[in-house]
Amino acid sequence: MHISSDDLGLAARAHSLTKTYGSADAAAIALDDVSVGIRRGEFTAIMGPSGSGKSTLMHLLAGLDAPTSGRVWIGDTELTDLSDVELTVLRRRRVGFVFQSFNLLPTLDAKANILLPFELDGRRPSAIERSRIDALIESLGLDARLEHRPHQLSGGQQQRVAIARALATAPDLVFADEPTGNLDSRTGREVLRLLATASREQGQSIAMVTHDPIAASHADRVLFLGDGRVVADKPRQSAEQVSAFMLAAEVAA
Ligand code: ADP
Ligand code: MG
Repeated sequence: MHISSDDLGLAARAHSLTKTYGSADAAAIALDDVSVGIRRGEFTAIMGPSGSGKSTLMHLLAGLDAPTSGRVWIGDTELTDLSDVELTVLRRRRVGFVFQSFNLLPTLDAKANILLPFELDGRRPSAIERSRIDALIESLGLDARLEHRPHQLSGGQQQRVAIARALATAPDLVFADEPTGNLDSRTGREVLRLLATASREQGQSIAMVTHDPIAASHADRVLFLGDGRVVADKPRQSAEQVSAFMLAAEVAA
């Protein structure tokens, strides 16, 4: 792992992560000795073909699943040391999630969906948090939609509500799992620009799993996975460069 002097630190890191499924004699190795850092304030794409270990890596980094061996930290907190309850609280307070299928609660309006992380934490946003959330809502163009329920919103609007919810607590790290997978290409580009802006202007660390070269081209950094290993770690790439690399990796495999 190469860390340069302008790094602000790591929002998450993994050391020698291995994940196997199944019994020892018929084990499937989903992740094979992966060590990687997600840098603070950076928009990182995790790219790779189907079955390369992207979802497994994201789940382990987010504390949604435990590794077979190896260690994971979010900020300076080692997840492997935490109880299930401690992990749940840490995820709620320090990690935001954006999913392909938006995952909004259908019975709540947009505002209540955005404030859900606070509700689950049993507290109200502070004055500083309220003003940050108001600014987020404005920058995402959601002012006029706050009383709408998810079914009254377009896909792009629902994903913007999900982004506002993911950013509302100013988490250390936001994980996005194929966030544009259910959007048309124009709306998808808009969502990618919003994620890029969040990392640039609010210093959010974003890790986005994707198999779409165009989505990956919006990121500051592209991690390529293949067969459970990190096969390349590149600075910002054009969609053409990402496609060419993926094609070459497929041919070599
Ligand atoms: P990706 O997200 O890149 O498509 P995954 O992380 O989902 O890849 O999967 C990596 C490998 O681990 C694949 O070979 C997959 O079949 C296997 N795998 C993932 N989850 C499970 C599971 N729950 N049980 C058994 N094998 C799994
Ligand atoms: Mg996957």
